[in-house]
Amino acid sequence: MTAETNADSVVVGAGIVGVMAALYLQAEGRKVLLVEREEVAAGASAGNAGILAFPEIIPVASPGIMFKAPKWLLDPLGPLSVPPTYGLKIAPWLFHFWRASSRKAFAHGIAAQTEMMHLAAAEMRRMRETPELAGFFDTTGTLDLYDSEASFDAAASDWLEKEKAGFQFTSVGRAEIDRLQPGLAPQFRHAMYSPAGIQVNDPKGLTRAVADLVTARGGALRKGEVRDIAPNADGAIITLDDGATIKATSVVVAGGAWSKTLAARLGDPVPLETERGYNTTLPAQAFPLQRQLYFNDHAFVVTPLSEGIRVGGAVELGGLELAPNYRRSKALLAKAARFLPDLKTEGGREWMGFRPSMPDCLPVIGRSSASPAVLYAFGHGHLGLTQSAATGRLIGELAAGRPASLSLAPFRPGRFLRGG
Ligand SMILES: Cc1cc2nc3c(=O)[nH]c(=O)nc-3n(C[C@H](O)[C@H](O)[C@H](O)COP(=O)(O)OP(=O)(O)OC[C@H]3O[C@@H](n4cnc5c(N)ncnc54)[C@H](O)[C@@H]3O)c2cc1C
Repeated sequence: MTAETNADSVVVGAGIVGVMAALYLQAEGRKVLLVEREEVAAGASAGNAGILAFPEIIPVASPGIMFKAPKWLLDPLGPLSVPPTYGLKIAPWLFHFWRASSRKAFAHGIAAQTEMMHLAAAEMRRMRETPELAGFFDTTGTLDLYDSEASFDAAASDWLEKEKAGFQFTSVGRAEIDRLQPGLAPQFRHAMYSPAGIQVNDPKGLTRAVADLVTARGGALRKGEVRDIAPNADGAIITLDDGATIKATSVVVAGGAWSKTLAARLGDPVPLETERGYNTTLPAQAFPLQRQLYFNDHAFVVTPLSEGIRVGGAVELGGLELAPNYRRSKALLAKAARFLPDLKTEGGREWMGFRPSMPDCLPVIGRSSASPAVLYAFGHGHLGLTQSAATGRLIGELAAGRPASLSLAPFRPGRFLRGG
């Protein structure tokens, strides 16, 4: 067994949340070791849609969702699916999701997300101003499209909440939609346009660039799977899959959808599940895309990236083990071709990723009950890229023992426990 004693702060997982946590820990004067079992950006951070969705403060767990969801489930390739073999396993998570959709919990979720998103926007601005990272951001605006006046009207209360939270957008009709994005199918006559919408043009590249920054500033990256974290009086001893151990003064668990096992071993049973998402990245010449398009009635997006056009979204509650069902990416692509009739659908690359999702749609950011030296940063669901820099900041503050920039109560790991 080998022991390494030079680690001060260890971050488990080099997705966007882990590398941001590492960057902010460094800013607090910590010497950081990132431990990743595969490579930087091996998980959800590699292939997401790249949207910095700061206005997305409305939790999916919302009043009435449990009546809408069964209708979506009827279509096995629709916006939401549960593979039959996973039906029973997802039941406890769905129970918490149902509880999180009460009016009170929903209002609490909006308040928590609003604070988080303002911090997220401020911290991501710092990233955009960092010379090594600036090239990964495009401000092209976001167009939220609706199939009908009825669905546009049904979303009015959500937009009101976003307006109250200080986000800016304008309602646009067909003429303006045509100007903002020529080539859409005729049914799209109602949309919201957010001119400040920001796109990360290469989510994997950004994650790698942040990891490079961490190493350039004196941090280290080590390959290995963390199997155990054993807190002690000086911090924790981390055991890797090859039997090596690392002594650390503090540890951050940022293993995305795989964080549940490590947290459970530490005595924190968090109801983390994965919402699997699918997409296809088409060559850039597939369509003259002007900006991010979100098809609200179908829960999928079409986004312009430096490598091409990414078409995807949807939610499959299928756990970490089942093989991907790429019929879902194909179904999304076929739908996109109906909505953008000139879209060339050939030559794409399909991908499936594991969103790390909590039932109340809020991340877990806080200390483990096992030790103040062990911190959690996972469970960001659909918003991990958006909230990564903010999470890094909060982790840095926790590690430094300074007051956090916002109340961490909504994000506490034990919130689903009885009395938690
Ligand atoms: C289809 C799709 C579209 C999305 N679009 C957007 C979007 O537009 N905007 C947005 O904000 N978010 C989006 N998301 C969500 C976002 O991608 C995730 O929330 C985010 O990437 C999570 O980052 P993470 O670092 O927590 O996890 P991950 O990126 O999954 O990284 C976790 C890392 O930890 C490593 N790891 C796990 N366990 C261990 C261990 N025991 N030891 C060592 N290493 C370990 C894994 O190998 C992995 O590299 C999307 C997700 C999907 C699937």
